[in-house]
Amino acid sequence: MNALIQALVAANFPPERIIPSASMARYTTFRVGGPADVLVHIADTREIAPALRAARQSGVPVTLMGNGSNLLVRDGGIRGLVIRIASDCAGIRREGDCVLAKAGVSLSAAAQFALAEGLGGLAEMAGIPGTLGGGVIMNAGAYGADLSQVVTRVDAVALSDGRPLSFEREELGFSYRHSAMMDAGVIVTDITLRLTPADPAVIRARMEECSRARRDKQPLNYPSAGSTFKRPAGLFAAKLIDECGLRGLRVGDAQVSEKHAGFIINLGGATASDILTLMDQVKARVLEETGVSLEPEVRILGEDG
Ligand SMILES: Cc1cc2nc3c(=O)[nH]c(=O)nc-3n(C[C@H](O)[C@H](O)[C@H](O)COP(=O)(O)OP(=O)(O)OC[C@H]3O[C@@H](n4cnc5c(N)ncnc54)[C@H](O)[C@@H]3O)c2cc1C
Repeated sequence: MNALIQALVAANFPPERIIPSASMARYTTFRVGGPADVLVHIADTREIAPALRAARQSGVPVTLMGNGSNLLVRDGGIRGLVIRIASDCAGIRREGDCVLAKAGVSLSAAAQFALAEGLGGLAEMAGIPGTLGGGVIMNAGAYGADLSQVVTRVDAVALSDGRPLSFEREELGFSYRHSAMMDAGVIVTDITLRLTPADPAVIRARMEECSRARRDKQPLNYPSAGSTFKRPAGLFAAKLIDECGLRGLRVGDAQVSEKHAGFIINLGGATASDILTLMDQVKARVLEETGVSLEPEVRILGEDG
């Protein structure tokens, strides 16, 4: 990996933003996962193309992440370069009723900015612990709202060669927790959101209502990646898991949350392998008892330990 580190230094990345053998347990909300060979923190979207070039020159694969709040990294970690676009790469401004934000802006910061500007449309997103970049790829949402309702344009670069790309609203192909960009090999750099002027008191009340609902229903005091499985059409994964009697089921320190059966939590010492085994057990039992095949919502990356 020395060649990759040298190529990143030659591309002017400061050494403190190049992290060799970066523990993915540190960079994901699940707090599990082995090391990435090299992780680079992006501070400006113009740095993405040079980072891609450095990886190409060194012949290593590239993995992209935001805040790591929807990722399960296996215990063997990730080979090659991890490009992290999160809080170091944040910038947000208003233009008319639109908000223009960098991919690393957190959904909660975007919601707070909109509130301060008296713009409605993001209140429900305030408690989602991801970035706008990760959110737009997944069409993140909660409490009846999702990003598809407000995103009008996405600027990106191609993962293959850093070429700039842009997507207008009709090209984004949003559906439930999915966008057309998800499998298109793109790195989101900038997001345009069209919001609606609204009374800040009303926006704040809605944010508080959603935040209370989260605190009441979700196991926020344990590491997790949010809902482990997608909602099957017309059904709720948590309800199916609960009805199969799986609430509290444990493998090592991975547990189906007692508070919300849709969440797998890390009680402290879980490994990725514990979580994956528990996911398999849940999936098998739900299939056997209900005939429904659950699909993971968390994105699983890396190599076995
Ligand atoms: C406690 C908790 C509650 C949650 N509640 C919700 C909820 O209510 N609704 C919801 O939708 N999700 C929820 N999540 C899941 C998660 O926060 C969202 O999916 C979020 O959008 C992920 O963003 P991220 O920046 O953390 O992305 P990551 O987890 O880092 O990455 C997720 C995927 O996006 C890709 N990606 C990241 N950044 C970019 C980029 N700039 N360009 C292209 N691809 C990118 C990654 O490659 C990866 O495939 C919750 C998670 C937790 C831990």
